[in-house]
Amino acid sequence: MPHGSDRSRQKDRLVVLGGRKTAVAGQVWLVGAGPGDPELLTIKALKALERADVLVHDGLVSDEILSLAPAKARRISVAKRKSRHSYSQDEINRMLVAFAAEGLNVVRLKGGDPFIFGRGGEELEACREAGVECHVVPGVTAALAAGASAGAPLTHRGAAQAVTFVTGHAANGKEPDLDWAALAKANHTVVIYMGLSQAAPIAARLMEAGRSGATPALIVENASRADERRVVTTLAGLADAASNLSGPALLIVGEAMALAISTALPGESGDPSGLDMDPTAAWAPAFAGVSGGLK
Ligand code: SAH
Repeated sequence: MPHGSDRSRQKDRLVVLGGRKTAVAGQVWLVGAGPGDPELLTIKALKALERADVLVHDGLVSDEILSLAPAKARRISVAKRKSRHSYSQDEINRMLVAFAAEGLNVVRLKGGDPFIFGRGGEELEACREAGVECHVVPGVTAALAAGASAGAPLTHRGAAQAVTFVTGHAANGKEPDLDWAALAKANHTVVIYMGLSQAAPIAARLMEAGRSGATPALIVENASRADERRVVTTLAGLADAASNLSGPALLIVGEAMALAISTALPGESGDPSGLDMDPTAAWAPAFAGVSGGLK
């Protein structure tokens, strides 16, 4: 083998190993961790985790998923806490930029999808302003996992021509300011994130705006996790059903939720036997707590 060709091969290798990205600039990866079940991580999310120098994560991300990052990666929880200092969004933004400026590969791991009620947009903007390269890895948002576990499609021919994701959380901690008339339209699925504590006023506004109290509704707590609970109810029963749960949970209202299968035992609130449902619902209790629900 001629000497020159060895040298040029070595030169190629140097270009790859000594590239700008690895040697100098750090990057931020906004990664969706999915709803909880580690098997619902994307392969791209897993690869990003495996390359992390620093992991900045929120409270919805399980230890099982955090353990997929290298042991030597620094882990920083920015979960909202009542008792201890929690980081403001501005502090988180500055933290991400500062770590990247040190040349580190920063993974900002969020529950579900970073761009669905995840404040990923603000972090992306902060990176752009600071000139930090930022990549976004989408994740399975909670609504998709909830529908999948319950066997209730969010859109369904003849029953749900549209689906709308809304937040039940208002900035002032009171009732959310939503377009109730639009949400009250029939044949439409409404998925409410962060709505558990506001279930009563949300249901009342929807009914005032004309949505029937008999509209099927579903609450899914801890979707895709071992402790998942699903309660099948109606819009009129939503507030009652929500009062027994602590979250994280989604409220889902819409005709297509008639297909939903509860994890409640016969006689418990959420027992589907009172509703006109598929008889296979009888096997639902056996699936309680099974990751993925319908495996
Ligand atoms: N980015 C996330 C949502 C963050 S907002 C996503 O795409 O899923 C937080 C809210 O999401 C919670 O209050 C709850 O309503 C919902 N949520 C997140 N994970 C959930 C889960 N495993 N089961 C049910 N609801 C969940």
